[in-house]
Amino acid sequence: MQRFLIALCCLLCSLPAAAWNGAGHRLVAVIAWQQLSAPTRAFVSAALADHPDHSRWVERAGGHGAAAIFAEAATWADSIRNDPRYYDAGRGEPTPPIGGRFDSRRQRHWHYVDLDATGRPVKGELDRQVERLSRLLGTADAPDEITYALPWLAHLVADLHQPLHVGRSDDDGGTRFTVENPFSKRLPFLSLHAYWDELPGPSSLRGRRLQREAARLLSEHRPPAQGDVDLWREESRHLHASAYPHQAGSLLPIVDEAFQRQARATAERRLSEAGYRLGRLLEARLRHRVSRETP
Ligand SMILES: [Zn+2]
Repeated sequence: MQRFLIALCCLLCSLPAAAWNGAGHRLVAVIAWQQLSAPTRAFVSAALADHPDHSRWVERAGGHGAAAIFAEAATWADSIRNDPRYYDAGRGEPTPPIGGRFDSRRQRHWHYVDLDATGRPVKGELDRQVERLSRLLGTADAPDEITYALPWLAHLVADLHQPLHVGRSDDDGGTRFTVENPFSKRLPFLSLHAYWDELPGPSSLRGRRLQREAARLLSEHRPPAQGDVDLWREESRHLHASAYPHQAGSLLPIVDEAFQRQARATAERRLSEAGYRLGRLLEARLRHRVSRETP
């Protein structure tokens, strides 16, 4: 009975879809950084330095350099979810532009795309926004557009590689699919979506440990084919077949040892693929600007 009540409580309190946790987004960003040429790194750093929230990223990066600042910028799209300077369109009062310049909408629907049984998008704009923001890097006239697009893109390319961010619309990307996870004392019952978000490891992962973990992922995974947004979305969708646990626990589907091992391996592969691809995307889209605009 007690287990049932805990499970029920988890169901009722289950959080809305977030994303890979902080560790996941920082790992993708650090791997991407490794793919960038020195002039592109300098260009990206300069563009980020112009962002109104840059000082927060510097502080959180704790003196670990430009890659660490880029990694913190990649978590910004999630950090604004509870930041009162930002607002949800259609709910609550609009807040003033950030730094007097930037859109203060949280854009929660950019973080995911849910598909129906035929693979048709029915909710969310993740794939479309990755496409749009990538294009913007090449075409934008105003430097502010690049500064605004970079943290979003660093975040959303990672989200697009999280299998449940390209979710099934019938369970809202796994947010309404509760599982029992005996491997977590902190969250023994949680949504499948949250289970996947947490797979990259402790969300406080930063500094030397972050660098070591990124280096390990790079050494264990070869660069993937670059592909495009459609391929990345379809890859995530095809992972649904193995992303759901089928073993019955005492009450709910349960994460057993084999599932945990396989899910973790998939998550690590997807993080490395996202990192390689984000790096190559930035390098390709910014190339002409870097040669023209970098001092
Ligand atoms: Zn996200």
